[in-house]
Amino acid sequence: MKQIPKLLSKTRLMRGYQCLKSIYLTIHNKGLEPPVTPDLQAIFDQGNVVGAEARKKYPEGVLVDFPAWDFFGSLKKTRELLKIETEVIFEAAFEYKGCYARADIISYSKETKRWSVYEVKSTTKVKDEHLDDVGLQAWIMANAGLPIEKISIMHLNSSCRYPNLKNLFTEVDVTEELRNRHTSILPRLTEIFKTIRLETIPNIDIGPHCSSPNDCPFSSHCWREKQIPNLSVFNLPGIKANKWELYSN
Ligand code: SF4
Repeated sequence: MKQIPKLLSKTRLMRGYQCLKSIYLTIHNKGLEPPVTPDLQAIFDQGNVVGAEARKKYPEGVLVDFPAWDFFGSLKKTRELLKIETEVIFEAAFEYKGCYARADIISYSKETKRWSVYEVKSTTKVKDEHLDDVGLQAWIMANAGLPIEKISIMHLNSSCRYPNLKNLFTEVDVTEELRNRHTSILPRLTEIFKTIRLETIPNIDIGPHCSSPNDCPFSSHCWREKQIPNLSVFNLPGIKANKWELYSN
């Protein structure tokens, strides 16, 4: 059976939500993954800037200032901050059964003794993939023992006008929506963990999932594998909608 890392980050697990072959390759055949392009890096950097701006709403907040790769340092620091009932924590880390996630902002209520979770997105609306992402994160946090009372997504407010950034964010309460999705999470994770323990790469064909919700970094590998010629139904103009049907034919 293939060895897998002790902890898998939410980002990696979300790869498995998109395509089981993608998470398998990112764990066992990392060399096939091209380096992060400057464009993609710019998107990551933009997300970091937006995240830092959201934190300004909570001047009392304490940052778990461990780098993204330091899972165990972040977990330890988070446990310490939770123990002393820190009111607001940025980038708190949690793990449950090999799944690892960090929350942008969590805020504690002394009255209810429960936490509100705020996940920051640098988009101007809540997208379906955000609900999957935040749902998985909340599932890890709740199973790790954090009592949660509310989960919100903070996205950018398109009516905000620079230099007045007071209304930069719109907060959307997604607690109820995530409650409805809760039971679907464990079966998905079970499937992911079963797949990444396989001896061989899962046989999954290319399809619309290769670019939705995100462009898969293994596209050139899989396209090469399928021997897609340079000129194919994928780059003929005007047939965007049914290109996958034509590919299957
Ligand atoms: S390119 Fe498509 S089939 Fe290949 S790993 Fe990515 S999502 Fe899966």
